[in-house]
Amino acid sequence: MNFSAFLPRTFLSFGKGVLGKVGKKTSLHGSKALLVAGEGAMKKLGFLDSTKKFLEQSGLEVTVFEGVEPNPSVPTIDKGIFIGKNSDCDVVVALGGGSAMDAAKAIAVGITHFEEDDTIWNFIGTSDREPKPITSATLPLIAITSTSGTGSHVTPYAVVTNPETGEKTGMRSEFIYPVESIYDLELVKSMPAKVTAETGFDVLAHAMEAHVSTNTSPFTAPFSLTAIELVSRHLVNAFENGDNLEARQGMALADTFAGIAITLSGTIAVHALSHAISGNNTEIAHGQALASLSPTIMTLNIEFGDEKTKKHYSEISTAFGKDANPVSSVQAVIELSKKIGLFKPLSELGYSNKDIEKFCKDTFNASQRTLSRNPVELDKSKVNKIYSDCL
Ligand code: NDP
Ligand code: MN
Repeated sequence: MNFSAFLPRTFLSFGKGVLGKVGKKTSLHGSKALLVAGEGAMKKLGFLDSTKKFLEQSGLEVTVFEGVEPNPSVPTIDKGIFIGKNSDCDVVVALGGGSAMDAAKAIAVGITHFEEDDTIWNFIGTSDREPKPITSATLPLIAITSTSGTGSHVTPYAVVTNPETGEKTGMRSEFIYPVESIYDLELVKSMPAKVTAETGFDVLAHAMEAHVSTNTSPFTAPFSLTAIELVSRHLVNAFENGDNLEARQGMALADTFAGIAITLSGTIAVHALSHAISGNNTEIAHGQALASLSPTIMTLNIEFGDEKTKKHYSEISTAFGKDANPVSSVQAVIELSKKIGLFKPLSELGYSNKDIEKFCKDTFNASQRTLSRNPVELDKSKVNKIYSDCL
């Protein structure tokens, strides 16, 4: 057996109240911190101030960069890099969901790699261009997650959107693994129900996609299947009662397991196709795009996939507590997305037939590598059909 895989290499502090460790943890890696946050939730809830205070109590100088939008954009990241360079920072601390964490990862790269007139988009590969190399000069990153969704606190990926083209795609480097992750349940407890649903579906998509990816490894199944079991047990409870700490903890563990699963095996067509949907309208949450596409792509993979793929889907059905029929996994996903309000066709998200050509173009430009891990090979006409079927 031959395979290669990124293994976890992040020090994780997990539990209630662990945010208090951020000062000591960050001081192991630098003395001038750039603290990167989203558009206001962390500030409003007081976590931005408390993080800053903890950092300062450990002797760090802190510059705050706020305003990272959902589906973080190239101009926002370029601005953060400018601010980080000017403040001479030597460590980056991310506070927020996947958007703040991914922006912070890209900023940690840009601060040390930018040449004159550079933009972060040059460090992201597209179908016609190799990315500029990312080296060990990248600043260390401390990730404090506030959503249970992306797994970005344990992955070597950062997803960036180019508003000029609508393309959304990932940066991948071993040097953007967070060196430290702080997973405080008090933070995720404050997620509103809609964000809980959207980010929770992202966890599920990661676990299911890594499980069936062509790049699956012997390490993947324990992480992917455990994550699916946890989502199936806890997501509806976390959605219906945000104060339920047991449900929040279950989703936080699932998020981490699923993050490790995608680090090992990557995502497939669902993520590849979802990026065009959120890239062309950044108001559409990543998790909603995934929920609108998942049943159709699962059905296609089960119908045209080989025996191994069918077996993988039947393992997913079992992890949901259903019978071992592969098709039961699709049923389980539909039932779950109905319960959490995400069962919506693309037409309900404001899209129509006339958008499909652009979606296909963006998918093949920006997400070809992800698409190539789908267990069933997908050409342009199949991708086109998936988008139409999801309308
Ligand atoms: P976001 O970080 O985009 O946050 C979504 C919304 O929730 C924002 O409005 C944010 O507000 C708010 N919010 C976040 N946390 C809380 C909280 N605790 N309480 C109240 N409100 C909160 O969502 P995701 O975590 O889903 O990240 C999505 C991004 O991550 C996408 O770009 C996606 O493509 C990417 N991604 C990255 C992966 C990776 O491996 N790196 C994997 C999969 C997806 P505010 O802006 O005010 O903070
Ligand atoms: Mn995702």
